[in-house]
Amino acid sequence: MTESVTNWAGNITYAAKALHRPPTPDALRALVAGSSRVRVLGSGHSFNAIAEAGADGVLLSLDALPPRVEVDTAARTVRVGGGVRYAELAREVHRHGLALANMASLPHISVAGSVATGTHGSGVGNGPLASSVRAVELVLADGSTVTLARGDGRFGGAVTSLGALGVVTALTLDLEPAFEVEQYVFTELAPEGLDEAAFEAVMSAAYSVSLFTDWRAPGFRQVWVKRRTDQPLPDFPWAPAAAGKMHPVPGMPAVNCTEQFGVPGPWHERLPHFRAEFTPSSGAELQSEYLVPGGSAVDALRALDAVRESVAPVLQTCEVRTVAADEQWLGPSYGRDTVALHFTWVEDTRAVLPVVTRVEEALAPFGARPHWGKVFTVPAARLHALYPRLHDFRALVRDLDPAGTFTNAFVRDVLGD
Ligand SMILES: Cc1cc2nc3c(=O)[nH]c(=O)nc-3n(C[C@H](O)[C@H](O)[C@H](O)COP(=O)(O)OP(=O)(O)OC[C@H]3O[C@@H](n4cnc5c(N)ncnc54)[C@H](O)[C@@H]3O)c2cc1C
Repeated sequence: MTESVTNWAGNITYAAKALHRPPTPDALRALVAGSSRVRVLGSGHSFNAIAEAGADGVLLSLDALPPRVEVDTAARTVRVGGGVRYAELAREVHRHGLALANMASLPHISVAGSVATGTHGSGVGNGPLASSVRAVELVLADGSTVTLARGDGRFGGAVTSLGALGVVTALTLDLEPAFEVEQYVFTELAPEGLDEAAFEAVMSAAYSVSLFTDWRAPGFRQVWVKRRTDQPLPDFPWAPAAAGKMHPVPGMPAVNCTEQFGVPGPWHERLPHFRAEFTPSSGAELQSEYLVPGGSAVDALRALDAVRESVAPVLQTCEVRTVAADEQWLGPSYGRDTVALHFTWVEDTRAVLPVVTRVEEALAPFGARPHWGKVFTVPAARLHALYPRLHDFRALVRDLDPAGTFTNAFVRDVLGD
């Protein structure tokens, strides 16, 4: 490929023989039908080779297609094009007086890429972003189009699909009436007394709660609490309020972050931690994340505490969130309410990888499922044991893409091929 294309973090240079940006749906269908190996690149915010096409494959970006966002106010749904990012989607949905149930920590990511990897925000009652999806429109290897919708027996494999079924050209999402959110930050949540019941009480204090630690000392350095103004004001007796505005990564400017100190604002300007017009997170990093069953948070945190001397030197911040169970076969929170343990590492693959493996060993007894879009070293055989519906997903891939046009090395590992 003449053009060198990297992911957002810069740790992956995608192998592909060409990158195409089809300007129309017809051009896209023709390109797909004329190629034997295809992968779609979303906004490139994944930290591993999941989007890679391989040296003989074609990478497709949907950025040049018209950015379609069609809101149906009566049905409270939106149909969104396959290249659209959450920031543009959220603005348009809000203009119609409607809202998405939840968002990830940043609005910069594409909707199709996010739901393909099981991306999530926080909240004991909030499923991953894929749980808002009601229908997926796919362009298959022969250029034909198929739509899989809720109620179809194949829908469980259609959304969190790792890009393995075809090109997602549109998604239909559930909406609800727009709501406002106030965000509060607390500091230094002490570890004393943080048993499973207390952990659940902290995480249930508001619509969305995140804990942050650097693993340099016990306890949590920050707690981010996002309250819907149509829900009760949280009582938060566990930690003192922050004295000033905060960024979850030490040393980064708080101006990059969404408004704090309880200033009410629209859902899409409070549910993410990072503002659309600024660099999210630190911008120089790798990320990993592991999802363990609800009820095992305190034991999992204890297991991480046992390896914190390895973790702390290569860590920028660690975030703990909750995700409600969902029904996507490859969803990392499939079938179980979940606690998500996220790591923002320093930007040094060689130093970070051995620590990633140590963390995975520490969390293996909890059946930890790695985030599909982040750095992990979990062996394929262990991945297979973590997903009881993997055989159904494999059958769906064989059915919709019998020639394996959309399969790459990453997907082959997951499928066990
Ligand atoms: C700073 C930062 C913060 C993050 N915060 C969070 C967070 O809060 N929560 C969380 O869960 N994750 C988070 N992530 C991870 C991120 O959400 C995922 O990596 C997500 O996949 C990003 O979407 P993308 O469009 O960039 O995907 P890409 O990396 O571009 O692609 C991911 C996969 O989706 C496929 N794909 C993309 N578009 C299509 C399409 N139209 N049709 C078919 N397949 C497609 C690709 O082929 C690939 O397999 C964060 C990442 C970064 C960099």
